[in-house]
Amino acid sequence: MTRALTLGFVVWLLAACAQPDPVYQRTIYTFGTLASISLYDLPREQAVETANELERTLARLNRDWYAWGDGTLGELNRALARSPKVAIDAELAELLRRAFEFQSISQGLFNPAVGEYVELWGFHDSDARASLPDQQDLNAIDSPRGVRLTREGEQFFIETDRPGIILDLGGIAKGAALGVCRDILLTAKVQRALVDLGGDLIVISDATDPPFSIGVRDPRAAGVIAVLQANGGEAVVSSGDYERFFDQAEERYHHIIDPETGYPSVATAAVTVVDLDPVLADAAATALMVGGSLRFHALSKLLDVRYATLITADGQVLHTEAMANRIALADSGSGSP
Ligand code: AMP
Ligand code: MG
Repeated sequence: MTRALTLGFVVWLLAACAQPDPVYQRTIYTFGTLASISLYDLPREQAVETANELERTLARLNRDWYAWGDGTLGELNRALARSPKVAIDAELAELLRRAFEFQSISQGLFNPAVGEYVELWGFHDSDARASLPDQQDLNAIDSPRGVRLTREGEQFFIETDRPGIILDLGGIAKGAALGVCRDILLTAKVQRALVDLGGDLIVISDATDPPFSIGVRDPRAAGVIAVLQANGGEAVVSSGDYERFFDQAEERYHHIIDPETGYPSVATAAVTVVDLDPVLADAAATALMVGGSLRFHALSKLLDVRYATLITADGQVLHTEAMANRIALADSGSGSP
């Protein structure tokens, strides 16, 4: 018997015969999505405490890493409108350091300075109504460059010559939050757990335990297009054009922006990446969406991603070689290594 629980765009499956139900499960709303914390193999009281700590931490990180919020990144963006050089704390600096690193490795396909575009399209706020912007307004945005992280002694700064720049960490924030969750779970000596932020998830499990079966959502239909086994510590992260979008004149406009054009990326419906580094998995899924099927294999190598699957808007399925060996298509999709 298989029980499927759908949250966001990846479905995770519990084969009831192979593994027990979680001792404790909690569903919360964070990072703009329904999230679930599932804990196994620990006393209930400890499970409640651990879930409390995860929930508190996720709330803080969501506040701090949301570009339009009242946390540290929102403050930074507001300060950059007034000043070309702004001091930031070490935690935000580390995430921005990685974001700029992925920007460089991905040749600009991943770009944390896309915030002005994201806001103009209306994808920054789940309450906002997204719509096609005026071309003039799009043209008025400089290509998202001209920002750097600097350091003087122990103090980090963001410097820019572009007032109005909006740094947006939406492309890696969930991955980074999953990494923090994993640290909390390992410190608490939790042996088996799954944290799912609306389809971006991380699992904890012992080498002797069965892996978690993770279903990858079909981007164009309800249900699962493929299933893979995730081992202890691994993150499974997806990006898709079905997460935040609107359709107009048979075109899909979604929240992942090609920084070169200012328009949503085209031709790719979804990407799933599995990696022990959840920040890499998240950044790579976003970059591979923008890069599309033609750059899929080269870009996976550049990013040092072993396990990735890309589904094109017309339904072709591409895997990296290593992913082809660990993923099973759930139906008649056409796999190509
Ligand atoms: P994800 O779901 O991880 O692919 O992240 C999508 C989010 O990342 C969007 O909602 C934007 O906040 C941000 N974003 C959009 N386009 C890009 C891009 N090209 N590079 C980096 N971040 C982006
Ligand atoms: Mg991402």
